[in-house]
Amino acid sequence: MQTTLPSLTIVSPCYNEEPMLPTSAPVLQNVLERLILSHQVADDSKILFVDDGSQDRTWQLICELQQHNPLFTGLRFTRNYGQEAALMAGMQTAQRHADLIITIDADLQDDPSLIPTMVAQAQRGVDIVYGVRNDRSSDSWFKRTTANGFYWTMGNLGVNLVPNHSDFRLLTKRVVTALMQCHEDKPFLRGIIPQLGFPSTKLYYKRQPRQAGVSKYPLRKMIRFALDGILSFSIAPIRAVLYAGMTICGGAFLMLIWIMIQHLRGAVITGWSSIMASLWFLGGFQLIAISIIGEYVGRTFTEVKHRPRYIVQADTYSPNFQSPTVSLTIHQHTLP
Ligand code: UDP
Ligand code: MG
Repeated sequence: MQTTLPSLTIVSPCYNEEPMLPTSAPVLQNVLERLILSHQVADDSKILFVDDGSQDRTWQLICELQQHNPLFTGLRFTRNYGQEAALMAGMQTAQRHADLIITIDADLQDDPSLIPTMVAQAQRGVDIVYGVRNDRSSDSWFKRTTANGFYWTMGNLGVNLVPNHSDFRLLTKRVVTALMQCHEDKPFLRGIIPQLGFPSTKLYYKRQPRQAGVSKYPLRKMIRFALDGILSFSIAPIRAVLYAGMTICGGAFLMLIWIMIQHLRGAVITGWSSIMASLWFLGGFQLIAISIIGEYVGRTFTEVKHRPRYIVQADTYSPNFQSPTVSLTIHQHTLP
């Protein structure tokens, strides 16, 4: 009996990857063609580049690639929405056509030669294959240390993350379908995917340095990413503030007793420095507490608005795709 081959889509987010695409596209093409030729995946398998609002020639390059080889397809955002949004969009589009979806960064710092093993694992019934970096020596000391601190914090907050796993992974269609039911405004994929509970396995590899272009994650974006992860998965920071507040109140109560005793003994100290110190400390503490609560309130605010996570301007993968500008023009014509 002949079994039907699974269709694979390799999704790769691209933000200003003009210097990198000419190198990475042939590598991915080679991997996919080999898989097709060895009958591991169906011949309608694709490589889907998601252009996350690049300002350089990334989209033109994607279109040129597609003209030369129909293996390549593209999705283009109207502006830069961030890597997570690009991954969500790519996976959402891919799951309409594919049985297996692999996500990999366009700079190929993650090892594309693992892709055939990922596919083989999926054929054995595993739904999620995580690519895990066992050597991050190519990352800067700062990036490694902050990443370790982030995994440590998340672990202590009870969030089940796969340490040193980035966004290089294989998901089967049913995982992506389940994932699409998470309607969060800022989906923290590395936290959500392990939570879905499907059978998973890990493959280890050495992370390579970026060969061209620059990292799109400056410190500001890294902090935002870490905060998104922590705040979208845990209310522990609010609790921590509550406990700290309670401890400080307990301390203040003991202090009050001590002050009363001193007062009764007639040894009243007009301690300017201690008052000033506690004033600043409490003022700072209150601001932190309010800002943490504000973060959660702010997130609730953005969630309830239900704005789209991203807007797709062009989609060369889906044959019936209509750009939002086209539907807007039609709408204006029908107005009285
Ligand atoms: N990326 C994206 N949108 C962004 C930032 C990054 O689609 O706003 C893509 C980028 O093109 C790359 C991947 O996400 O394919 C990872 O980015 P990068 O390599 O710059 O991150 P790093 O490896 O330095 O953490
Ligand atoms: Mg990179």
